[in-house]
Amino acid sequence: MTASVVIVGSSVAGVRTAQALRRGAYEGRIVLLGAESELPYDKPPLSKQFLAGEWPAERVALLSAEAAEQARIELQLGVAADHLDVAERQVVMANGKRIGYDVVVLATGSQARPSPWVAESGLHVLRTIADSQALAADLARDGPVVVVGGGFIGAEVAATARSLGREVTIVDPLEVPVGRLLGREVGSMFVDLHHRNRVATHFGTGVKSVEGRAGQLTVRLTDGQTLTAATVVVGIGALPNDSWLASSGLLVDDGVVCDEYCRAVNAPEVFAVGDVARWMHLGYGESCRVEHWTNAVDQAACVAHNVFHPEALRAYRPVEYVWSDQYDWKIQIVGRPTRATSHCLIGDLGRPSARAAGKPRAVALYKDDSAQFTAAAIVNWPKALVTARRLLAVGSSFDDALSQLEQLAGPRMEPIS
Ligand SMILES: Cc1cc2nc3c(=O)[nH]c(=O)nc-3n(C[C@H](O)[C@H](O)[C@H](O)COP(=O)(O)OP(=O)(O)OC[C@H]3O[C@@H](n4cnc5c(N)ncnc54)[C@H](O)[C@@H]3O)c2cc1C
Repeated sequence: MTASVVIVGSSVAGVRTAQALRRGAYEGRIVLLGAESELPYDKPPLSKQFLAGEWPAERVALLSAEAAEQARIELQLGVAADHLDVAERQVVMANGKRIGYDVVVLATGSQARPSPWVAESGLHVLRTIADSQALAADLARDGPVVVVGGGFIGAEVAATARSLGREVTIVDPLEVPVGRLLGREVGSMFVDLHHRNRVATHFGTGVKSVEGRAGQLTVRLTDGQTLTAATVVVGIGALPNDSWLASSGLLVDDGVVCDEYCRAVNAPEVFAVGDVARWMHLGYGESCRVEHWTNAVDQAACVAHNVFHPEALRAYRPVEYVWSDQYDWKIQIVGRPTRATSHCLIGDLGRPSARAAGKPRAVALYKDDSAQFTAAAIVNWPKALVTARRLLAVGSSFDDALSQLEQLAGPRMEPIS
């Protein structure tokens, strides 16, 4: 019988694991440790509604003190775990306190990749609520914004800054930043989206330096051009928070390496969940680490089950899902487009659709070499998402998926590639 579960990391993966344990009738002790002093909060709105000032802090809350107490989840916030003593089964906190466990769940997530450039002030990364508040304060000030990094976080910040009336430029060393994920053709449509929203882009160009202070920053590009900015946001990816485990003896390799049940490969009483977990995905036949909100939630349910039912372990084998909100596009990706070798687009992202309230709508379907349907990227089309998700879950062929989505689209939305 597992008498105590200690969860390290108090964001969505940690909170959902604790809640799922209780929902599953686990009656033992649950301790939830978090480095930040804030009560647990959610991250996706930090680049969207919260950054725009549309949502108050209460709306991003994940767990109130009352809810924690009611669920008998012991919250210990404001101190980071310093290291893990696997032999003694103890989490050692930065203040020297040792917390014993029968099972420990590592949910320490990831951090923004640090900016390689340093300015006196006005240069931001975005990961925490404090980051979002600091950025919002600078975005409230007039003056141009330069976003470094054209991935999802950078694009969302650009869209939010535009909605606040700021002049925005995005810089990325790749010519088609989202092309890495979705292919060049679909990625180019994301570039057009920025342009249609009057965001300037310097793609295919790197940043050499950022100098100055808030309100008076200079961004020098590798092609010799210079941009002036009031605020600079650096969104160049994330790194797993796994360095505190260096002395633990656990296998750590861009995340905590786990088996298909999300148990650390060399310590079965240690589980990992969310952004920090690198587990064996049996469907892919390789280990993977996923930095998406829905993964943290789904994996938490699986980990909670496996912690409480070691006699009936479940392999974690999700169909991946991520969304992003940029301007008037709701983007939803199911499956893993990077496993594909070709794709086909149904719909038109350059033209408004009457059936999507005047917004464009489309779906890109991805297939691999064996003509298997591997992923879909959907814009403003909830029904296409439901269909694609269902077909991916049952392992549909690409031809079947294409035919079903064409039917859904109706006669006027022929595939265009
Ligand atoms: C601005 C932003 C927007 C996003 N938007 C989307 C989106 O639209 N769609 C989507 O699917 N995903 C989105 N994501 C990603 C999503 O939020 C993450 O995948 C999710 O938060 C991962 O949850 P997690 O609990 O694993 O890790 P995290 O959210 O990173 O939380 C980890 C927690 O552990 C704590 N911690 C770290 N180290 C220690 C330690 N040593 N001791 C104690 N505590 C520690 C941290 O302080 C943090 O509270 C976004 C992320 C950000 C930052």
